[in-house]
Amino acid sequence: MSNILVVGGGFAGVWSAAAAVRAARAAGASELTVTLVAPGDDLVIRPRLYQADPDTMRVPLDRVLGPIGVRRVAATVTNIDTAARKVSAVERDGRPIELGYDRLVLATGSQLVRPDLPGAEHLHDVDTMPAAAALDAHLHRLPDRPDGPGRFTAVVVGAGFTGLEVATELVERLRAIAEPVGAAGSVRVVLVERADVVGAELGAGPRPQILKALAELGVEERVGVSVREVRPDGVTLSDGTELPAATVVWSAGVLASPLTAAIPAGRDRLGRLEVDEYLRVVGVPEVYAAGDTAAAVAEEGHHVMQSCQHALPQGRFAGHNVAADLLGLPAAPFAPDPYVTCLDLGAAGAVFTKGWDRAVELTEQEAKQRKRQVNEVWIYPPVDDAEELLRRADYRTSTRQPYIPLPA
Ligand SMILES: Cc1cc2nc3c(=O)[nH]c(=O)nc-3n(C[C@H](O)[C@H](O)[C@H](O)COP(=O)(O)OP(=O)(O)OC[C@H]3O[C@@H](n4cnc5c(N)ncnc54)[C@H](O)[C@@H]3O)c2cc1C
Repeated sequence: MSNILVVGGGFAGVWSAAAAVRAARAAGASELTVTLVAPGDDLVIRPRLYQADPDTMRVPLDRVLGPIGVRRVAATVTNIDTAARKVSAVERDGRPIELGYDRLVLATGSQLVRPDLPGAEHLHDVDTMPAAAALDAHLHRLPDRPDGPGRFTAVVVGAGFTGLEVATELVERLRAIAEPVGAAGSVRVVLVERADVVGAELGAGPRPQILKALAELGVEERVGVSVREVRPDGVTLSDGTELPAATVVWSAGVLASPLTAAIPAGRDRLGRLEVDEYLRVVGVPEVYAAGDTAAAVAEEGHHVMQSCQHALPQGRFAGHNVAADLLGLPAAPFAPDPYVTCLDLGAAGAVFTKGWDRAVELTEQEAKQRKRQVNEVWIYPPVDDAEELLRRADYRTSTRQPYIPLPA
């Protein structure tokens, strides 16, 4: 028996495990076991954590992977010994364990980098399920506070992809919460960005749509400034401006999981491991990386983005290749679907772009329909359905299922 150990139960980990099982079954091999280790019991639908009710954005791992016989261990990996081919982990009751492997897939995702600012403990974020749930609970407690400046003001720091989605969505979320206490009119959302423009990383293509949406929703932009200090009742910006705000959300800066440092290999500026075209870590042949931990080449001249759209196919290719490696079968070079982006702009719709220069293809409600398709259909794995899971785990399957019109 050979054991494949997948570390991480996010998009890349789930699809790696499923693809490894699929490859083994397709080859008629029964000598492989696949184990997935992750701290939680659910696949967290991270791209939806900016929305209301984040606690519902999850899928039980056992209902996805149980039907195909993947063994699951609920534990946090603390170290990887590539020479001894074993990982150290801590179970939820604090008990230390060790897990051996013949091949490892590292799919532990990424983490928001929290700033070292005075008052940083008052910052919220939407990077993880607990953080998004804490923000949601905080927002729902605002009506209990005495009326005062900043009660229904939110400052969102960072106008990148996540910051824009958070800011635009917060307008509606805050209004729905303020409405019953007659304060919907006092809702204010301020987007603070250190660069001179919003959405700098998205390029010039979608910017007119983004600016139009911010104006339509009344989101205020403060560009060319950063945050100097955070307090429970507001922030001070780097230009000295004081903004009263009960809610401050940090969205700037994401790095690969710190476990990447346990692998003796090169990493890029985002902490992602250097991998070859088969997603095998360069110089460490028994270890593969997938998702936000891997600096894979998406197509000539472009590395993958830390995104779901790249984590899913990386999982499928890494899972296939790790099984193929053990079974002596040909490996498949990583080749994701063409690059697109779909940015939610709250009640103002969305903007959908194609290509690395992000040419705008769909806007407003047409793009919103596509965003809902991505968020509510494409990124969810099938549950209780081994056959459908294994069909979609084939590395040759597109992540984008045929376009299914959603109910309005
Ligand atoms: C608010 C928000 C909006 C986003 N919007 C989009 C979007 O619109 N489009 C898009 O494509 N992407 C989007 N993303 C990015 C996307 O969510 C990530 O790129 C994607 O989740 C990466 O998948 P992954 O499997 O690599 O990592 P993750 O989904 O982060 O999963 C990592 C897994 O590893 C586990 N893990 C971590 N550390 C350990 C450890 N030490 N031991 C064991 N297990 C561990 C975690 O518990 C988790 O199960 C968004 C992200 C956020 C936060």
